[in-house]
Amino acid sequence: MKFSEIAKYMERLEATSGRIEMIHILTELFRKASSPDEAAIIAYVILGELHPPYTGLELGMSEKLIIRSIALASGYNTSLVDKRMTEVGDIGKVAEEFIGRKKQVSLFPVELTLDRVYNTLDKIAKTAGEGSIDVKVRLLTSLLIDSTPKEARYIARLVDGTLRLGVADMTILEALALCKGSRELKPILEEAYNKYPDIGYIAKVLFKEGLDGIKKIEVTPGIPIRPMLAERVRSPEEAWEKTGGKLAAEFKYDGERVQIHKFDNGNKVLIFSRRLENITHQFPDVIELVKKNVKADNVIFEGEAVAFDPETGEFKPFQELMHRKRKHDIERIAREIPVTLRVFDLIYLNGVSYLKKPFIERRRRLEEIIESNDYIKPSEIIYPRDTKELWEFFHLAIENGCEGLVIKSLASNSVYQAGARGWLWIKLKRDYRAELTDTLDLVVVGGLYGRGRKGGLLSSFLMAVYDEKNDVFKTVCKVGTGFKDEDLTEMNKNLKPLIRDRRPARVIAKMEPDVWIEPQIVLEIQAAEITLSPIHTCAYGVFQEDVGLALRFPRFTGRYRYDKSPEDATTEKEVIEMYKRQRRIVTEA
Ligand code: ATP
Repeated sequence: MKFSEIAKYMERLEATSGRIEMIHILTELFRKASSPDEAAIIAYVILGELHPPYTGLELGMSEKLIIRSIALASGYNTSLVDKRMTEVGDIGKVAEEFIGRKKQVSLFPVELTLDRVYNTLDKIAKTAGEGSIDVKVRLLTSLLIDSTPKEARYIARLVDGTLRLGVADMTILEALALCKGSRELKPILEEAYNKYPDIGYIAKVLFKEGLDGIKKIEVTPGIPIRPMLAERVRSPEEAWEKTGGKLAAEFKYDGERVQIHKFDNGNKVLIFSRRLENITHQFPDVIELVKKNVKADNVIFEGEAVAFDPETGEFKPFQELMHRKRKHDIERIAREIPVTLRVFDLIYLNGVSYLKKPFIERRRRLEEIIESNDYIKPSEIIYPRDTKELWEFFHLAIENGCEGLVIKSLASNSVYQAGARGWLWIKLKRDYRAELTDTLDLVVVGGLYGRGRKGGLLSSFLMAVYDEKNDVFKTVCKVGTGFKDEDLTEMNKNLKPLIRDRRPARVIAKMEPDVWIEPQIVLEIQAAEITLSPIHTCAYGVFQEDVGLALRFPRFTGRYRYDKSPEDATTEKEVIEMYKRQRRIVTEA
């Protein structure tokens, strides 16, 4: 496929304001794929990636180097391109402009193919070490020399990591389903993707082996699976009711969720975050523990890594772990901030997937393979006989510095639901009881400029929930409280590349902020209550015609949820449930 073809589709996607139209455009594009490999490349490139994010392979070219390449390819001075970049603020537009007035026009123009662009970008990503900067610049310059202005726009954005067409992985899956059959295929593709979240691989298998191939995709050591998530309740009684009393309860540790893969005869250990990033380098101590204390060589399991004091055994707050998010000196930090691993689920063992096995079987097997000490042990668990025991255990968890409990169904169908939030796991957190409403994890979709001292800075934000059924974001409040000066500086820095002058296609809103923001950043928000509102689109028309739900007195808690992707935010469905519960409490009181 010619790269100009892809560029045309990228331009159409950029101009789209609706998700349905986006899916049609993508379906049309996938129909043009001439081979399974090409379908895979299209899937990656549309998402602005070359490989699945868990590989951690980034393009690794700074803006400065891209500017240098644009200058070389167009024959202008680097300082001139640099100046234009400061004025325009979009590397794509700058590349388009300069390539459009190239000083030298090639006598034998070569048309770029998708393959060539992909392979060159891949080479740029993989070039490292001494002299690599010059090689990267040369490779990118060679692409830009042969590109049209429009192609240059998208190549520059791809290599800068700022393509952001507003397409999500689920949108791609839907387009793939439509391309190879109908919408009904989507759940089957989604199930495979939950176990093997590599969008290019899914596209390739679908094109090569059809649905039969997709159905054969299984969990694989080295490839993270999408995590199972919990619904929430407000009391032990409610949890009892939801599970029919068939339940186990575990401490809900306040640390970082880790998915651990041990394979290659036990020699290789990889650790993935809740968002499936490869965070192995942050936990050299955990790697050693897993090698020594996990009695299996081919295994995938999950747990929570919690900062703690080895002298007293006391847990420390979640924030302590943030210090481990660094590239250098990690051995020292690992000594200064020790962690203990509380393992809570088994996903795969010695060639067998445990996803379809009931919880109790997964737990028993997990307990058998862990040799416990202070640094690694199975999560604290009870099998309560009544709600009184559950209450006691809940208080014990809080006393021990945990957030509350995760309650796990013991029903015969209590499988591991990869990538899904369901009632087989239920969380009962302390803060649900303290205030009328829970904290919510909301996505920033718009920004409003402050006045006076905060003039020129975005200082309040339009926040949205995630509607998982339609894969869109719906607004639920505007928040400007709880941000310290340094928070505003950080927010403005992080939001700058996400600012859009048009509403992103997956955002549903009635309110017009000063600027739109591409959904990416998730913040924890506390509010006094949920009210009906005509200006927000969350649960619009559900409780009353032309009226949605909004948060009253929302406040940023200071907790950035960098561990969550926008699709992990609180869902519209959850807010509807919270509102119903709140109404019940208000009317009962
Ligand atoms: P939260 O913000 O409440 O941690 P979440 O959206 O990250 O929620 P949920 O699935 O809703 O995730 O809640 C379960 C989370 O609790 C897991 O992601 C995990 O990090 C944490 N956790 C702590 N202890 C346990 C445990 N014993 N079993 C399962 N999850 C646990």
